[in-house]
Amino acid sequence: MPVRPRYLTNLNLQDFFETACEIPYQKIDSELFPNIELWIRRDDLLDPLISGNKAYKLIYNLIEVREQGADTLVTCGGAWSNHIHATAAAGARFGFKTVGIIRGERPRVLSPTLSDAERFGMTLRFVSRADYRERHSSGFMNRLGLDGPGIKYVPEGGANQRGAEGVKQLGTILEKTSPIEFDECWLACGTGLTLGALAGALNSSGIRLVGVSVLKDGGSIERDARYWQGRCADVERQVSVVSEAHCGGYAKFPDYLAAFQRNFERGTGVPLDPVYTAKMAYALHREDLAGSLSGRRILMLHTGGLQGCRKSIKK
Ligand SMILES: *Cc1c(COP(=O)(O)O)cnc(C)c1O
Repeated sequence: MPVRPRYLTNLNLQDFFETACEIPYQKIDSELFPNIELWIRRDDLLDPLISGNKAYKLIYNLIEVREQGADTLVTCGGAWSNHIHATAAAGARFGFKTVGIIRGERPRVLSPTLSDAERFGMTLRFVSRADYRERHSSGFMNRLGLDGPGIKYVPEGGANQRGAEGVKQLGTILEKTSPIEFDECWLACGTGLTLGALAGALNSSGIRLVGVSVLKDGGSIERDARYWQGRCADVERQVSVVSEAHCGGYAKFPDYLAAFQRNFERGTGVPLDPVYTAKMAYALHREDLAGSLSGRRILMLHTGGLQGCRKSIKK
């Protein structure tokens, strides 16, 4: 089966979810996972630029920009943000302006992520770290002169109710399109929104959701996942967070993780990103070797992020 990316040509819910229903599930036969039946759902293939979970978080926000007659989408992020990259690409593709509020001073050389974003037409506004910390306060947009009519603000990472609704749809699609019945579904977590919204969507099924924290989160992921689940569903369902697989912290990429990623990619042909999906796969590999998952049927979600691979080239 050829695994080619789809390409979102229209800003249209029906097209988006039809495309999402065609995303392939691949069975992973690899000695890195000797004791489980492992599959991966390839949401990195949704679109080369508007990919992974960021696409699900964006879709309703993008539709809303158009329905409100707005012409500009403003959002925030760091220098390697998958969300900034996807938002800039979506603005270029679907014909509206984008502004990215970026943490820190403008560097002399932009990261590949930000240089793409600028090329896609995004206006980059660099703000000090102190100002950036105020991004959740009410006057933030006003102080930047960005609160006029025609402007829609989407928080960092696409973390708003619209974002959660898009991820909920992914949950529905999972139940509809899974090739087998899974015992567990593993995914990488940054904020926990994707984990929480999926948990809210999967109420009917017996699948256990496991989120792998890619940062030293001190409990914030579980908290946020519970919050977003509450916004998506009435019944609370148990989710698990693996909090010791961050490999040193956010965007830390030690040699053993790089070696694992190379082995995984060579053995499976599936590319991973260093910040999120490599850590998720590594955590599952360790858990499998520890023997606690024997015989389970496990689905990994490929949440995208491949634009960030250029980070490891720099290293
Ligand atoms: C943003 C991101 C995540 C984390 O999503 P959250 O909803 O913030 O937990 C996981 N994987 C990739 C590739 C991402 O870009």
